[in-house]
Amino acid sequence: MNKRIYYLKNIKGFVFDIQHYSIHDGPGIRTTVFLSGCPLKCLWCQNPESQELYPQLFFRYDKCIGCGECISICTQDAIKLNGNVVQTDRNLCKRCFKCIKVCPNEARTVIGKEITSGEVLEEVFSDKMFYHESNGGVTLSGGEVLLQPEFSSAILELCKSNSIHTAIETSGYGLWESMKKVLTFTDLVLFDFKHFNDDKHKKLTGVSNKVLLENAKKIWHDLKIPIIARVPVIPSCNDSILNINQTANFISTELDRSIKVHLLPYNSLGKAKYKNLEQPWNCFSGTVPSDEKMNELRNILESYGLSVKIGG
Ligand code: SF4
Ligand code: SF4
Repeated sequence: MNKRIYYLKNIKGFVFDIQHYSIHDGPGIRTTVFLSGCPLKCLWCQNPESQELYPQLFFRYDKCIGCGECISICTQDAIKLNGNVVQTDRNLCKRCFKCIKVCPNEARTVIGKEITSGEVLEEVFSDKMFYHESNGGVTLSGGEVLLQPEFSSAILELCKSNSIHTAIETSGYGLWESMKKVLTFTDLVLFDFKHFNDDKHKKLTGVSNKVLLENAKKIWHDLKIPIIARVPVIPSCNDSILNINQTANFISTELDRSIKVHLLPYNSLGKAKYKNLEQPWNCFSGTVPSDEKMNELRNILESYGLSVKIGG
């Protein structure tokens, strides 16, 4: 193994999932690597387990038999019985994960792990035959891949050196230096557009959209990397006619009309995970957008000359 490959394979990072045979994260059949950690706090986040960089406790309350073994082992006094329900004070928890080992019913597990880029490559490589047949490849998602630029770029460079097509899914929120490092080995960017209005973007995600809109322009015009625009459709948050018009105008004039747009309808599948992480549900009461609404938004985007697909 040459020195560069040895170096690349030993860069460590954090992931919370690796999905095989994915068909919604770019062309063909793909392996999607979900990196941990995200600087955004979207109200509708469907992957709350992605927000923290480090591994965290995942409590399957439906499997808890109330034996109290976890309470006895915890030296931080972080676990208490509230009535007959076990609760963990996440502020006191030091993530030693001793409570997981003593739980007799696997009610306590850990989500997220530290892994080397070489280990990720091995998992990705096991799917290689599917990539060739379907024009697929690997997609790095999250969380936000820009939060771990060294790790992300090492995985992507290793994939490129093995002739594997690479894509990243990003909010675009990150330093341009980090973005450039990651994009050096990226064939396709799945770029999320959450809200065009900066004040609303801050309210909905916790961050300004100025940097990410600038980054989108640089990716397209300076680096000339293909983009697929992904627009999550979240009722009462970003599904107004005005917002979709402004988003369509930005994509078609500031970027390019040839960019494909994927409209992604909200679903509430992530809601249960908040309970598993013992986090309060963020009171977001979004409903699933109707087919009629999705078609209305598609028509608006198409009126700007954009090609639109509903779903990823
Ligand atoms: S991970 Fe460790 S500190 Fe946290 S609740 Fe379990 S035993 Fe206590
Ligand atoms: S050890 Fe497991 S089953 Fe027992 S009280 Fe704790 S979480 Fe529940």
